[in-house]
Amino acid sequence: RAGSEQPQGPGRGAVRWGPQHAGARELANLYSPGKRCQEWLSVILCFSLMAFNFIHLLSCLFLHFFSLSSLVAGILTADFASGLVHWGADTWGSVDLPVFGKAFIRPFREHHIDPTAITRHDFIETNGDNCMLTIVPLANMAFNFLTLSPAEIYQLYPLYCYLFALAIFVTLTNQIHKWSHTYFGLPRWVTFLQDCHIILPRKHHRIHHVSPHETYFCITTGWLNYPLEKLGFWRNLEDLIQSVTGEKPRADDLKWAQKVK
Ligand SMILES: [Zn+2]
Ligand SMILES: [Zn+2]
Repeated sequence: RAGSEQPQGPGRGAVRWGPQHAGARELANLYSPGKRCQEWLSVILCFSLMAFNFIHLLSCLFLHFFSLSSLVAGILTADFASGLVHWGADTWGSVDLPVFGKAFIRPFREHHIDPTAITRHDFIETNGDNCMLTIVPLANMAFNFLTLSPAEIYQLYPLYCYLFALAIFVTLTNQIHKWSHTYFGLPRWVTFLQDCHIILPRKHHRIHHVSPHETYFCITTGWLNYPLEKLGFWRNLEDLIQSVTGEKPRADDLKWAQKVK
């Protein structure tokens, strides 16, 4: 059933996907030492701030009933954000864009023609970019814990629960996505979370990997994929953008999929 992830259509006859795909090899070689350094810094900073904020949130726990709805709202926001960013990078832009294209669009193109490459990425490459995104809000939260009065922190507590759940799930999105592509050697607790649909389940994410990759973009919990598909959310957004800009959705993605030499 792994064959269902193969892109259909043009490019037939040559290597259709996987690390030997000509496009995949070219994209893998564009991963640079500077990019690696940015990812290392991001991961270290981000995880230090997460630990710091977690301890401070715990120490306030006795002040406030733990706000479950804030947590759920934070997780839903993270899932939607993952869908929006993933949809944006899959559908628009190009690897040829200066700086941005090579650093942030390249991984999305690589992922469609070589979906298992992500399972060979180590912790730093998997999580570096998302850590970079959450450093500033986490640092802001840490700064507030250090400078605000207990009364002010008490007031902000539900908001901080929301922001913390959002930051945690945004940070872990790529790790969760990587697990959804891993079929061997996953820890028992990870498959348990997948089976309970607390994180993106493997079968659920396979729906996105059917060419031309036009639905099920949310990759954190995947909770919003079904409702957004029912609403035709991504389709409508694409029609709107195409009517305004004249750009064709997924033009660059299709170009890489068709590369044979
Ligand atoms: Zn995709
Ligand atoms: Zn995927």
